[in-house]
Amino acid sequence: MSALATTSPLLGVYRPPSPVLVSGHGTRVVDSGGREYLDFTSGIAVNALGHGHPTVVEAARSALATGLLHTSNLFRTEPAAALAEWLVDRSFGDRVFFCNSGAEAVEGALKFARRWATTVGGPERNGIVAFKGGFHGRTMGALSATDRPAYQAPFAPLVSRVQIVDPGDPHAVARAIGPETAAVIVEPIQAEGGVHEMGADFLAGLRELCDDAGAALVFDEVQTGLGRTGLLWGHEWSGVAPDLMALAKPLAGGLPMGAVVLAEHIADAIQPGDHASTFGGGPFVATVALAVCEKIGSAEILENVRRADAWLRERCAGLVERGRIVEARGRGLLWGLELGRPAAPVVDAARARGLLVCTAGQEVLRLLPPLNTSLAELEEGVALLEEVL
Ligand code: PLP
Repeated sequence: MSALATTSPLLGVYRPPSPVLVSGHGTRVVDSGGREYLDFTSGIAVNALGHGHPTVVEAARSALATGLLHTSNLFRTEPAAALAEWLVDRSFGDRVFFCNSGAEAVEGALKFARRWATTVGGPERNGIVAFKGGFHGRTMGALSATDRPAYQAPFAPLVSRVQIVDPGDPHAVARAIGPETAAVIVEPIQAEGGVHEMGADFLAGLRELCDDAGAALVFDEVQTGLGRTGLLWGHEWSGVAPDLMALAKPLAGGLPMGAVVLAEHIADAIQPGDHASTFGGGPFVATVALAVCEKIGSAEILENVRRADAWLRERCAGLVERGRIVEARGRGLLWGLELGRPAAPVVDAARARGLLVCTAGQEVLRLLPPLNTSLAELEEGVALLEEVL
């Protein structure tokens, strides 16, 4: 009998039923019945190179061959140092902290920002400003900054001094950010919240408000970072740099890894012992992550994402014209299709036809194909989707 029978001891936090996946190759996955699916979820923006990519497989093999899978933070290793160097060489950042997930990266970024702000601004400078529609994860700090009352309510009380503001109300945003603000956290494109781009002007405005108030600007690039939008960082489209950035999802090609990238002035306030992670930045994940980052950062992949963007933009505009969807929003290979009706039945119908997609809120279908998806595969997926719609 299958280990995933109805008596499975897996905690019931995800909605059944879903196919039981047993293997993957490229943009395809195969279920326990031998059925193949075109995967436009990428494990929710994680499998940026698709499934079983030789870069990931080879890096994992070579890391395993060292016999040094884990050392803890008691020791330094070369893969973590090399990965940190790669990240700072290609970003605004000067220092990197490694952890194991997106929520942990957000948690770390908020702690570092508060540590810096209270050090330079006094103990009152501890407020956190986040935005309506934003999603930052499920740990207590990240959840406190996440605008989902239904996710928050069962776990109250959450972290105090977190304010959630409507990004569409410039006066409320300006009022919220002041001398008692330690950090402002924002996704350059709100992904889980329905794929809403925050826009260059908005991010530039936040930068100015943070500078005036002495607050740290934190970009949550867990979903938009590392090539998803066609540039290495989602914020590059805006020309605005943060003080801290949270990364995770695609970082280690499917292995759990997160990172916080910090500007030097923030890092200067962090003392030994302020924060830690036993598993963070271990040599196995870091070796795979460096190989993945080098591949994602290549012109080949980033250009493919920008080509896909142009193609999808036009194809989705056609879906709107033909009345299949209400609106298409996105950038690169992160797209939200506003359906004007519940998205979950469309996800189920697409799966029945061999296409895996996910949602971003109740009425938005989200497309997250691997970054190396070909235009032919995109056409195959969108054609299937159009049939369903
Ligand atoms: N931040 C953003 C923008 C996300 O999209 C997510 C997950 O979807 C997270 C944080 C949390 O990441 P994780 O699920 O790895 O904790």
